[in-house]
Amino acid sequence: MAADLHTHSTASDGRSTPAELVQEAKAAGLRVFALTDHDSWDGLDEARQAAADDGPKVLAGAEISTQSGPLSVHLLAYGDLRGDAAVQDMCAQTITSRASRVEAMARRVAAGEGLDEKVLLAQLAAATPPGATPGRPHLADALVAMDIVMARDDAFIRLLADAGPYYVHYGAPSTAQAVAAVRAAGGVAVLAHPRGRHGAGVLSDSRIADLAEVGLAGLEVDHRDHDDSARYGLRMLARDLDLITTGSSDYHGSGKKNRLGENTTDAAAMERIESLLNVEW
Ligand code: AMP
Ligand code: ZN
Ligand code: FE
Ligand code: FE
Repeated sequence: MAADLHTHSTASDGRSTPAELVQEAKAAGLRVFALTDHDSWDGLDEARQAAADDGPKVLAGAEISTQSGPLSVHLLAYGDLRGDAAVQDMCAQTITSRASRVEAMARRVAAGEGLDEKVLLAQLAAATPPGATPGRPHLADALVAMDIVMARDDAFIRLLADAGPYYVHYGAPSTAQAVAAVRAAGGVAVLAHPRGRHGAGVLSDSRIADLAEVGLAGLEVDHRDHDDSARYGLRMLARDLDLITTGSSDYHGSGKKNRLGENTTDAAAMERIESLLNVEW
C-alpha cells in the first residue's frame, strides 16, 4: 500500500521517462506514486497510459518553484491542475525565467572555468529533453558530457551550488501566492522538504503557520534531506496546525542517489489528500 508522493521524470530534471518511471514504481512495489515535475504536468498523460489498469496509480502533481523573500521554496501541488489558467500561467512564466537563468549560469561557468561558451550551450541544449522544465541538473549533465565533472553530484558541489560563484536566481511567484492559486484550483498544496538543505535558510515555523492560513494543506516530513530532529519538529508543527504529513523519495532516476519508495506516505495521509482533491485522478 506504499505511496511515494514526490518524483521527477524527463518532463523536468529526472532521468527516467514517465513510462520508465511507472515500470520502476511497479518494480519498487508502490501502489501509488505522484509525478511531481518542476512546474509541469507534461509527463502525466504518458505516465497514466503506461500505468493503464494494472500499474501503480499515478497521482497528478507538480513541484512549483516559489520564493519567500530571499528563500527559494518548493511547493508540491497535487491534483490535475492543467485546466487552471492561473496555475498554468504561473508555471509558464517560471519556465521562461528558468530557461534564461540556466543559460546565464552556463555563460558564467564557461567564463569562470575557461570553457568554450558555445560548446557548453550546445551541450546544455542536448542535455535538456524537449519540452522539459530546464534546471541546473541539465547543466550538470552538460558538464559531465564535456568531462569537466564525473557526475551531477560533483557538478553541484564544485560549480552549481546555491552559494557558489556561478549561481543565478530566477523569477518565481511568492509561496503564499502559489499556495492560494493551488487551493483556488482545487489542488492540495504541500511544502516540499521544508527543512532541507538550502543556501539561504529555511522557512520558520511562523512563516509556515502563515501559509497554513492561506490554504497550505501539508508538510513533506520524511525526506532524505531531513535529519531526525527536523522530522520531529515538523511533525509537532503539523500537529499544531492540523497539517497532513507526507513522506517521499524525490526520485530523479539515475541523476541522484534517492531511491523510489525510500520514504512513503501513510494511509491516513493519503485519505486526507484524496478527500481534499475535488479533481478526478
Ligand atoms: P534548480 O531547480 O535548477 O534550481 O536545480 C535544483 C534541482 O537540482 C533540484 O531538483 C535538486 O533535486 C537537484 N539537485 C540539487 N542538488 C543536487 C545534487 N547534489 N546532485 C544532483 N541533483 C541535485
Ligand atoms: Zn529536480
Ligand atoms: Fe525540491
Ligand atoms: Fe523535487
